[in-house]
Amino acid sequence: MAKNSIVVIGSSNTDMIIKLDRIPRPGETILGGAFSMAAGGKGANQAVAAARAGGQVTFVAKVGQDMFGEQAVQGFAQDGIDTRFIARDKKQPSGVALIFVAKDGENSIAVASGANGQLRPAEVKKAAKAIAAAAVVVMQLETPLDTVRATAELADKHGVRVILNPAPARSLDDRLLRRVAILTPNETEAELLTGIAVKNDASAQRAAQALLNKGVRTVIITLGARGAWVADGQASFAVPGFKVKPVDTTAAGDVFNGALATALAEGQSLAEAVRFANAAGALSTTVLGAQPSAPTRKLIDKMVKRG
Ligand code: ADP
Repeated sequence: MAKNSIVVIGSSNTDMIIKLDRIPRPGETILGGAFSMAAGGKGANQAVAAARAGGQVTFVAKVGQDMFGEQAVQGFAQDGIDTRFIARDKKQPSGVALIFVAKDGENSIAVASGANGQLRPAEVKKAAKAIAAAAVVVMQLETPLDTVRATAELADKHGVRVILNPAPARSLDDRLLRRVAILTPNETEAELLTGIAVKNDASAQRAAQALLNKGVRTVIITLGARGAWVADGQASFAVPGFKVKPVDTTAAGDVFNGALATALAEGQSLAEAVRFANAAGALSTTVLGAQPSAPTRKLIDKMVKRG
């Protein structure tokens, strides 16, 4: 396997978005919306972001035996992602998210996880060779936690760095956190995991230290437009974000994580990798949609140089 190989394990959804004046109340019907569809799901977004950033990506996931799953897999292949370990569930449909976006930017999202909820440790085991040979493994929390745990143990046993993006937010036990090389919560997730509200550098450092105390080796707290706070037990530092004019911040965190994985797999230093990920995350906010917003390597390099 190539030196910069990355295995992403996680969810794949089809996002169906209706933009309308305001979000309908229960029982209400509103006409006049505009519909669009885009590939999404945290795992898939991160896999695509890592591939466009220049990584050799294998994606381990589960979709249904339907049109949505097929379309998603075709999209991954077009991005040069290895899709051999994407399983098809016989009973559950592919994951779908129904999203209302109001004029004022407010949104309301309903997710039917479908096949994502059936991604079992046995399916991940089929990719054991790819995991053992990878430079990094990337996971999130939209697929079953026992699968995340089993995968973290497998990767860690082979000395492969585990990046865990703890999203959507939920509490995690120390047994899992001890297997995590790099944990990447946003401010909300960091607060849920530690009870410490992240408001400035000092509170970011307190939250990061609390996570280091639980056995995580490196903590990167993403801070939206402000960039990220990094702590690894030896050093703690801020990596400022890039100035852009955002149009849609959906999946900024996913793009950050995908690009981070690629940079670390290539052997970039922690500080360099976080700067690279900040550039990718910032670029993603300038384009509508989840996977459509993941930038190419060329764009990221240009942004990193621009400073
Ligand atoms: P999430 O999308 O998970 O809530 P953040 O909002 O922290 O996560 O965004 C993740 C990363 O994306 C940030 O660390 C930053 O690099 C980039 N980013 C997000 N929003 C902006 C923004 N408005 N301007 C520049 N960069 C941004």
